[in-house]
Amino acid sequence: MSIEGKVVIITGASSGIGEATAKELGANGAKLVLAARREDRLQSLQNNLKKEGVEVAYTTADVTSNEEMEQLAQFTLDKYGQIDVIINNAGLMPLANLNKKKVDEWNTMIDVNIKGVLYGIGAVLPHMRERKSGHIINISSVAGHEVMPGGAVYCGTKFAVRAITEGLRKEEAAEGNNIRTTIISPGAVQTELTDHISDSDAKQGADALYEVAISPNSIARAIRHTISEPDDVATNEIIIRPTAQE
Ligand code: NDP
Repeated sequence: MSIEGKVVIITGASSGIGEATAKELGANGAKLVLAARREDRLQSLQNNLKKEGVEVAYTTADVTSNEEMEQLAQFTLDKYGQIDVIINNAGLMPLANLNKKKVDEWNTMIDVNIKGVLYGIGAVLPHMRERKSGHIINISSVAGHEVMPGGAVYCGTKFAVRAITEGLRKEEAAEGNNIRTTIISPGAVQTELTDHISDSDAKQGADALYEVAISPNSIARAIRHTISEPDDVATNEIIIRPTAQE
């Protein structure tokens, strides 16, 4: 009933929910591998965690590269000899109505939010299956449950994350591989997520919704809970909204 000593990979650890989760899990004794593209952020988070006595390493990894995700898994195995948990958290939300035809943003969301999660799963699954132990946590969203205007593509990617995670759960359970899956579906959380919305109408809408946004620490605590349950207990999904979010 503990996360003490568990080896946890966190993608998108350079800000927001990933960073908060690193702090929460590190404070509870997990051994961490932090991944993202911005090395300066990872380096400074690692330094701060080390000062707190956390066992932590980082490596840059772009989740849209299957090769880099394989390297991330290998880096973790070289460092700690095992992978207990991966948190596929990296994601982007450049909202805009479809008629704006932001093709580059469609592609990026599909690459990061869907393919990034698949590559993360694929990188650790052989090791977890061999050990008959592991926990794969994928960050979806309330937008994986309901579609809002401006969010057709983003919601599509987050619906996909839930479908992929549920498929994985059924496949691994059927084979008795003892691999836990968790979908974390947050509502509005105060992070850098809305900074990258290029469409001014969508940005206005998001800014209004995010007035009630909650701290990423609340998501980190939920993630910590799912990991700290006993191995035969899989918390398959948690939805966490600001109380004031409609
Ligand atoms: P942030 O923008 O603060 O964090 C996003 C993280 O993703 C960053 O660390 C960024 O790191 C990383 N990232 C983006 N693209 C890539 C890439 N190609 N390769 C590797 N890492 C990448 O936002 P959040 O913390 O809010 O987002 C985390 C997750 O939570 C996302 O999946 C998001 O969809 C989800 N979510 C967030 C909600 C919110 O309201 N904030 C609500 C529901 C879900 P870097 O740029 O350094 O690579």
